[in-house]
This record gives sequence, structure tokens and C-alpha cells, in this order.
Amino acid sequence: MARIGFIGLGNMGLPMAQNLIKAGHQVEGVDVSQGATDKLKAAGGAVAETAKIAAARADVVITMLPAGQHVRDVYLGAGGIAENANAGTLLIDCSTIDVETARDVAAAADEKGLLMLDAPVSGGVGGATAGTLTFMVGGPERAFVRAESILRQMGKTIVHAGGAGNGQAAKICNNMILGISMIAVCEGFVLAEKLGLDKQKLFDIASKSSGSCWSMVNYCPVPGPVPASPANRDYQAGFTAAMMLKDLALAQDAANAAGATTPMGAGAAALFRLYVGQGGAQKDFSGIVNFIRGAN
Ligand code: NAD
Repeated sequence: MARIGFIGLGNMGLPMAQNLIKAGHQVEGVDVSQGATDKLKAAGGAVAETAKIAAARADVVITMLPAGQHVRDVYLGAGGIAENANAGTLLIDCSTIDVETARDVAAAADEKGLLMLDAPVSGGVGGATAGTLTFMVGGPERAFVRAESILRQMGKTIVHAGGAGNGQAAKICNNMILGISMIAVCEGFVLAEKLGLDKQKLFDIASKSSGSCWSMVNYCPVPGPVPASPANRDYQAGFTAAMMLKDLALAQDAANAAGATTPMGAGAAALFRLYVGQGGAQKDFSGIVNFIRGAN
């Protein structure tokens, strides 16, 4: 069993850390919010005051932080993980961040003799709680081999996507496809309403035809056809529109930096920015159907 420092005990990090405790690891958590560390304590974990203290005592450090700047600060800042972890420590950043920061942090870790992986996840809070997350992992093979059994205690599908940053690349490509396909499905259902075509009829036909996709079949943005989708609970998230906008913005930054042409991704980012700006931030991302309908 490993001594694991877990930094960032929010909506995702806390249930992930809890699964590691259940699997028998010694977990020492760090968060700037005392409410979060109290919950870890209640779940049988220990608490360290700073990332520096946790990193110096750990075999493995896992981070689950809001965005790239937090990751840069916690790893590379004064008193950060890179400076204080012992050589050979395995570092796994599960946050969703920009590819460039992931690669910069990995290079700095490598210089210090640390093994670093970027391992963003898909599956949301439900997947984090159930231990069924998908991990998209970037970094050296020997780090991946060491991390796999630990990741398996928090997730079901673990894919090594290549070198440093490739986990983040996979995550933003996937979520760009998701953001675009959700808008496409919303537009189809809104057009059907205007044409007097019943939503269940459209679903019965399109879900078995060439327009079928995950956003329609598993997460239909109108109430009725897929009872488990957030549309049936007034678009209670789920995956918030604010998070989708974050990922679409990361995809646009990466596309601009790499010279990739992604006009649909740019359009999806623009529409989600408007929806979020008009009060949709904390709604499920499929709630954008109301914005497209003009009824927000
Ligand atoms: P969250 O805001 O609930 O949790 C982040 C935690 O990090 C908070 O508890 C915060 O206090 C803590 N934190 C911030 N700065 C810190 C620091 N310097 N030191 C220690 N702790 C610090 O966010 P979340 O929903 O858990 O998401 C975490 C990451 O996972 C994000 O990058 C997000 O994009 C990604 N993600 C989230 C979901 C989801 O459905 N929530 C799904 C997939 C991926």
C-alpha cells in the first residue's frame, strides 16, 4: 500500500481520495478549504497543512485542482511539490488543464528526478464516487506502469495516450467533440419543435439513424426520451456549462497554438460563452438547448 499525498479535495478529488482510502492506502490530503479537509478526516484520511509537507512524506502525489495556474503554483511555486518531493516520487495530475502547462510541469519534474503523469478524467462526480472514471494518461511508460494499479482503484478505463501532455490533449479533443455534438442535437430538437415534429418521434428515428450520437442517446437535451438525462431534472448538473466552456476554451487555445482549424469548436465555445454569460453557468451543459430555443 502506498503513502499518497492528495492535493485538491473538491467535488472530484474528495471521492477519488475516499476510494484510495477504501483500497487501503494511507492518504494525506491538502486543500485550502477547511471544509474539504474535514470531510477527508471524517472518511478516515489524514490532513497535511501544506502540499510541501504532504509531498515530502509521500510515495505518490495526486493533484485534482481547478485550472492550469493552480497546477503551476502547487508544483513549481516556492514550497511546491517539485522542490520537496523525494527523487523517484510518482506525481499524477488529474486536473483538466492546458497542454502547455502539463508539459512544462512534467519537464520540471523530470529535471528533479520525479516521475510525472498528466491523467485527466472523464465521468464526473458520479464516476469519481463509483470509482468508474476514465483516465487519459500522458507521460513516460515506466511512470504509467507504476500508476496503473492506483488509477484502477479510482477508475475503470485507463488509457496511456502517449508522452507528457497527451492525456490533456485527449481530454480536450473529446470534450470539444462533445460540446459540438450537444449543440448539434439541441439544434435538431429545436428545429423539430418548430416543424411540429414530436420530440419522441425524432428521438426514435434519429437515435437509430445516422444522426445518432452519445449526446442524443445517453444525454438527450430535451425531457422525456432519456429519463436519466439532466433535462428531466431542470438541467441540474451533471457537468456544468461553465466546465464545458472551460474545456472548449482550452481546446481553442490549443488549436490556435498548434495551427489546427476548428471552426465548429470555435462556434461551440462562442455559444457556451453566451449561455454562461446569460446565467447558465451552473446549469448542466445540455441546458444550452434553452438558449438555442431563445427561451433562456
Ligand atoms: P472543485 O473546485 O470542486 O475542487 C478543486 C479543489 O481544489 C477545491 O476544494 C479547492 O479548494 C482546491 N484548491 C484550489 N487551490 C488549491 C491549492 N493551491 N492547494 C490546495 N487545494 C487547492 O473542482 P472539481 O469539480 O473537483 O474539478 C477538479 C478538476 O477536475 C478541474 O480541473 C475540472 O475541470 C476537472 N473535472 C471536473 C469534472 C466534474 O464533473 N466536476 C469532471 C471531469 C474533470
